[in-house]
This record gives sequence, C-alpha cells and structure tokens, in this order.
Amino acid sequence: MENIQAQSYHHYLLRAKWVLPILSSPIFDGAIEIKDKKITKIGTYKELSKEVIDAKLIDFEDAVIMPALTNAHTHLELSALKYRIPPSGSFILWVRNVIKMREQLTPIEMKEAAKLTIEGFWKEGIGIIGDVGNIAITLDLLCQSPFYGYFFQEVLNFQGVYNLKELYIKYPCSNFKITYSAHAPHTVAPLLIQAIKSYNKKRKRLFCIHCAESSEEVEFLQTGKGQWSKLLKERGIWNDSFIPPKVSPVKYLNSLGVLDENTLLIHAVYVDEEDIKILKEKNVKICICPKSNIFIGVGIPKLKKFLNAGIEVCIGTDSFASNDHLSIWDEIKVLHSFFTDISIEELLKMATYNGAHILGFSNMGAIMPDYKPNLIIIEIKDKLSENLKKILEDLVYSEKEVIFRVYV
Ligand SMILES: [Zn+2]
Repeated sequence: MENIQAQSYHHYLLRAKWVLPILSSPIFDGAIEIKDKKITKIGTYKELSKEVIDAKLIDFEDAVIMPALTNAHTHLELSALKYRIPPSGSFILWVRNVIKMREQLTPIEMKEAAKLTIEGFWKEGIGIIGDVGNIAITLDLLCQSPFYGYFFQEVLNFQGVYNLKELYIKYPCSNFKITYSAHAPHTVAPLLIQAIKSYNKKRKRLFCIHCAESSEEVEFLQTGKGQWSKLLKERGIWNDSFIPPKVSPVKYLNSLGVLDENTLLIHAVYVDEEDIKILKEKNVKICICPKSNIFIGVGIPKLKKFLNAGIEVCIGTDSFASNDHLSIWDEIKVLHSFFTDISIEELLKMATYNGAHILGFSNMGAIMPDYKPNLIIIEIKDKLSENLKKILEDLVYSEKEVIFRVYV
C-alpha cells in the first residue's frame, strides 16, 4: 500500500470513480482538492478540474475514496490472547479464562502481538483508535504511529484503592490523548468511578467505561450476589462497604453523576427503555462491539433503539480476548446482517464520522472543506458498479483492499 502524509506545500487533486463524503451523497466520478494539509474542495471531477489550478492530479480510477475508519474501542495490549480464549456462553467462564491466560503472557510477547494488530489496523483502513490498556505497553507504539486517538489508562479496583496521578509521558505524543478510564461498574468502587470522571472532566477528556455488558453485571448490581461477587471474594478483592444499588448499570452510573456528553459507554447490551431515555437526556455516547458480544454470548446491543432515540453510536472491535478478527468491516457486516433496516450509509457514518467526533477529532471522519485529509482509497476486486446501492454493498461484502492512504 502506498501513502502520502500531507504537507503544507502539497496541492493535490484526487480523483476516483466514487467518493464517499459520509455527510453528503456519494459522488460518481468524484474529486477532492487538498491544499495546505486540508481538504479545500469536493465535487465531481468535471467541476473541480475546471476550478482547481496547479494541483497535482492523482487519478485512482476504479476505486472508492472515503474517510479512514475509527475503531473506537480495543485493548491492543491483549493482542497476544488471539485464539487462546475459547468463545463462551458464560461471561464468568470467559473472565476466568482471560485472567488465567493473561497471567501467562510476558510484556515482550504482549508488545509484539500489539504491533501486529496495529499493522493490521493500518491495512484495513483504520485512522483513529480508542485503545484501553492497564500497563501502557502500547503507548509508545501509538505515539510513533500515523494514527490518531485516545489511550485510556484503565483503572480496575473494586476496593477503591488507586492513586490518580497526573498522566504524562516522556516523549512527544501529539496524535494521542491520554487519560484514565474506569473498567466497569462491577469492577471499580463507586467513589473511584466518580474520581475518574472528575479527573477527566477537569481536563476536558472523555470518560470511558464498559457498561451493561453481561447479565452477571446486572445481577450483581441488583443483589450484590451471584457469580460476580463469588469471583471477587475468591480473588480477595471484595469490598465490604459495597452496598448493591439495586438498579440497572445505566441507572447506577447516573446515580453516581458520571453520565454526560463526555461519557462513552462501551457495550450497553443490557439496557431497557428507561435506560435509553436517560442516555439520550444526558447525551451519553455509546460504542458497540457486536462481535465481542457474540463471542462471549451476551447478546446484541439494541442499535435500532439507540438510533431511534437519537443517541450517537460508534463502533469498536474490543480485543483478541473476545474477537478472533479485529476488523471494523466485519463489525459492520454483522450489524448489517442483524439490523436489516439500518442502511450501510448509516453504519459507515458510525464507523467514520461518529467515531472521530466522539473521540474528539472534530475535523476528521468526513470529506468536506476544512477537514483533515485522513483518507483511504479502496479497490474492490470485482469491477466497481455505477449503481450506488450496489457499490455500497460491494464495499462492505466484496473482497477489497486499501491500496492508498492519505493522512496528516
Ligand atoms: Zn473492552
């Protein structure tokens, strides 16, 4: 794959059979002008070839130009667990397997596997990543990469003992925002969840937390008992002062005052109508990871209801602990098969514009003037159709390759 890192002295006119701007209709025989590290014009090639002077033309011919994808939730640090955790119908059994296998990994093994995953992300067209890690071994890889995104230093402590220090790194990292995240309502003490939210609020950072992923989490918050409390006690990390809130995970987080427009809930599978109302009222963002949910056997998020309620949703792959192939294209395929009445355009918007904006990259994820040229050029193995519906289907389902990238 070839690529260009846009420079201020560059002046390009890109042309391809199809341009997908995401926020406006796809353009047949489209073109994009890039100048001074920005997208300056977009339209048909016929129009732009007259208006744009002195630009170097790159004609991709039978290809599609679209914004790079966002993988809004993954744990690169767990990449070495690929094919080591069997799919499961039991959340607790899956957690036990992850704990056991993770203890056997060395940091070198973890980092090498993460490196391969990052390379795979680049090949499939990812431009922005939301990465969660506990030991931050992936941070230097990300900071030196052409990606943008968030690195969330994840806190997992049910007893509430954790010192939230100022997070900083020794080397420059202009492409990644770094902050703390809380693992989940059933693994982090309530006061600590609030402290992490407040840390992020002060620094205008996104607060990210897994929420409503399994029925065991729901049962635990309702009763303080069940398989989850058994596991915490067995591992000696039970908190005697914990009083079950006796409400759903979403209502529990709401009662802690941590739900607002800068909160990103991962999964949100076990939510009811009242929860959805709260999420909409508080303008909370949701990241769904359908293949991970299927792998663990916890169900499928209620995407149609989220969209009907007007909630902003983005897409993640989660990690190799709960997914055998980390691909946003695959997640789109699963969602399109399951929700037959949600269009491919809508799913592509979730995978590009929504992801970029939720992670705070407000000038990426779409092709329009003043946006950064963070673009992928895709060649589809079969001949590219001139029919819009067919081209969108081919883009998702056909064999394809990212042949060129433009990034900043
Ligand atoms: Zn996760």
